[in-house]
This record gives sequence, C-alpha cells and structure tokens, in this order.
Amino acid sequence: QSTRQTLVMGNWKLNGSKAMVAKLINALQTAATQHPAVAVAVCPPVLFLGQAQALLTDSPIALGAQDVDIHNEGAFTGENSAVMYTEFGVQYVLVGHSERRTLHGESNAMVAAKFATVQNAGLTPVLCIGETLAQFEANETQAVVERQLQEVISHCGIESFAKAVIAYEPVWAIGTGKTATPEIAQNVHAAIRTFLASLDATVAAKVQILYGGSVKGASAAGLFAMADIDGALVGGAALQADEFAAIISAG
Ligand code: PEP
Repeated sequence: QSTRQTLVMGNWKLNGSKAMVAKLINALQTAATQHPAVAVAVCPPVLFLGQAQALLTDSPIALGAQDVDIHNEGAFTGENSAVMYTEFGVQYVLVGHSERRTLHGESNAMVAAKFATVQNAGLTPVLCIGETLAQFEANETQAVVERQLQEVISHCGIESFAKAVIAYEPVWAIGTGKTATPEIAQNVHAAIRTFLASLDATVAAKVQILYGGSVKGASAAGLFAMADIDGALVGGAALQADEFAAIISAG
C-alpha cells in the first residue's frame, strides 16, 4: 500500500451562484470532517473564491482554481493570476483541463508555462492529461500522455512533480457518463508512474495521480482500490453534495 494520501477534488466548471456555493460547501464540511484521512478540495469559478475562502475558514477543505494566466499581472484582459489566487487561500490550480485544451486551444507548451507559473507562486498545479476517443481507439493513450508529461518535464524538470498533482482524464469519459474501468485507468496510471520513475523514482513514487471522468459515489471505491489511483478529479458529481460526499467516503 502506498503512502500517498487520497485526494478528492471537485471541479465545478462554469456552475454556481452565491446561494449554491454556501449550500454545497456547508454540506461538504461534514463529509470532509468525518474523513480526515482524505484530502478534499473544491474548485469554484473564480468569482466565488472570496466567498468560498470565508466559508472555509478553519475547514479541512482546500480551495482550488480551474485555470490561470501565465502572467502575474499586466494588460491581459479577463485573466486571473496565480499570485492573485494566493490572496484567496487557493492551494491547487488546474492546468490543461481538456475543456481548456479543446475549447481554448491550449497547447502542451502553454499548459507547461501555466504549470510553471503556478509553482512559482507557491501553489500546486494539477496537471490534467488524457487522450481523446479517437486516440484511445487508435491505441495512442500512452504516447499522448507521455507527450503531455514530457512538455512539462522539459520546461520545469522532473523534480517539479515533487510539488504537483497529475489528473489522468480520458477525454471520452469526461461528462459522458462513461467511466474508464478501474483496470483501464490503473493501466494508464501505472504507465504514467513508470514513465516518471525512469527519470526519478522518488518523485514517481510520491506524486498523486488522480483519475477523472464521470466518477460517481458508486464507482469511486473500485477506482481507489487500484494501486496507482490516488484519488479523483470530479466534475458533474461534485455539484451534488450527496454524490461528492459518497466519493469522499470511498477514499
Ligand atoms: C472533469 O471535468 O474534470 C470531469 C472529470 O468531469 P466529469 O466528472 O463530469 O466527467
């Protein structure tokens, strides 16, 4: 059994209201408090970070952001910086979520630059990687995730993964209701760890690799039982207090 702590992270995407943030966070406090061995984090839209920070005072639930600009300040209309996040108690920042890669054209190089910016601000990047359905069917999964990892390694060094989280999210499983089986996910997670271990065994043994893609309360335990699956990045089910609490309980 690994010494890596299970991490359950909710990505709320473009969802929420002040009322919903208050209700959901209050509901999750109990689940997080009852499972102190599991690390829990939520990533609300940036507009709600201040409200969430206030609600999470003295809470075991950590705060994350869904994206970041590569600059800390300047003439970059509409963007948010990692340095700004530090004022809002943010600990994790997602980089390279498939929706950013697909809908906003983010390249591996851009994602690597975001990863570096997050670490330079003292925050923990959550590097999202994963293959599309076409790549999965063409047996390209391993090549794709290695390319996505390599760009960050070339840019930031293998040792940067000592202070980062990886989220393996097959694009065909995100928001589709299709979860990779625990066996499929474990195979990819093990391949990711082996790839990292070829460069630095200590870093590879330590880094948390989360699975993401339609994780629900009912599917979480099977995934978490796998040797190289260290938690989940959860989209849809993170908006339902009962489902997210069930995923925390499975950790
Ligand atoms: C995600 O977007 O990170 C995700 C895993 O979404 P869902 O759980 O809805 O598939």
